[in-house]
Amino acid sequence: AAKGAGRNRFSYFTPTLQVAALNRMRLTNDLRGALKGEQFELYFQPIVHLASGAIHKAEALIRWNHPQRGVVSPLEFIPLAEASGLIVDIGAWVFRESARWVQLWRHEVYADFQVSLNQSPLEFQREGASYAEWLAHLRALALPGQSLVVEITEGLLLDASSAVSDRLLQLRDAGIQVALDDFGTGYSSLSYLKKFDIDYLKIDRSFTRNLAPDSSDMALSEAIIVMAHKLDLKVIAEGVETPEQRALLAAAGCDYGQGYLFAKPMPVAQFDRFLRDNGYPVC
Ligand code: C2E
Ligand code: MG
Ligand code: MG
Ligand code: MG
Repeated sequence: AAKGAGRNRFSYFTPTLQVAALNRMRLTNDLRGALKGEQFELYFQPIVHLASGAIHKAEALIRWNHPQRGVVSPLEFIPLAEASGLIVDIGAWVFRESARWVQLWRHEVYADFQVSLNQSPLEFQREGASYAEWLAHLRALALPGQSLVVEITEGLLLDASSAVSDRLLQLRDAGIQVALDDFGTGYSSLSYLKKFDIDYLKIDRSFTRNLAPDSSDMALSEAIIVMAHKLDLKVIAEGVETPEQRALLAAAGCDYGQGYLFAKPMPVAQFDRFLRDNGYPVC
């Protein structure tokens, strides 16, 4: 019996690992053709000003429409893009698309519209990288730096190399704003908040999820909000799904909310309609 169980375990695990590795190899291969094949698409999710319901901001979230597999989550393919170096070209595409759409919305909907885009650590830190190209492109579109926010994760600031501080200074010089994504999940060494020029803290979804009066997540969220405001940062709560969460966050003074309560991330045509039709849908 022991022998049988052992053999079962063996034959169960080995092929699974092989399948996973093979799957990653195949996906990475497909990823090489995805840009050329125009298989990427940017979705937009509104970021809502909680006190007024105004929507002058959105986060750009990439989707990969795989010809055979359908939509592949960025959680699955961004790590592969990082490992293969393809993240550089994908990031450049995300930037150009974000600039293109923010230009439209600034002209036609709100003059102060802002799009946030995500940069993975490898993308942000890569050697020789510079925002000079971004700046030139923004100038060509007559867009100020404040049209864009770059979302990075706090882990980057922990082992802040000079490359990281250089990049942050470049962003600052360009007028592009910076948000700390998933705040509270990493090793939040708070001293970095005064060392670096950050504009927004995004409270991670794991805090929002369990918000209730007198809960520990409520206490943590309130503390984050008070601290952020003293440091002159705005706070965005991620993953707002219920009216109760929204009300608790608003009462705690949270500046912005993002989540399924307001809207899921949408394809650009749908988001464009949403923005024009429902400028203030959630007051
Ligand atoms: P993130 O930057 O923290 O983005 C928020 C994620 O939460 C998104 O997942 C969004 O769809 C999801 N979300 C928003 N509201 C709710 C809610 O109310 N409930 C729940 N359960 N989820 C909500 P998504 O689009 O799958 O993106 C996952 C991650 O992939 C992002 O996390 C970001 O780290 C990364 N990512 C997405 N687009 C890009 C990109 O263009 N470049 C890079 N480097 N990373 C990206
Ligand atoms: Mg983000
Ligand atoms: Mg986030
Ligand atoms: Mg997140």
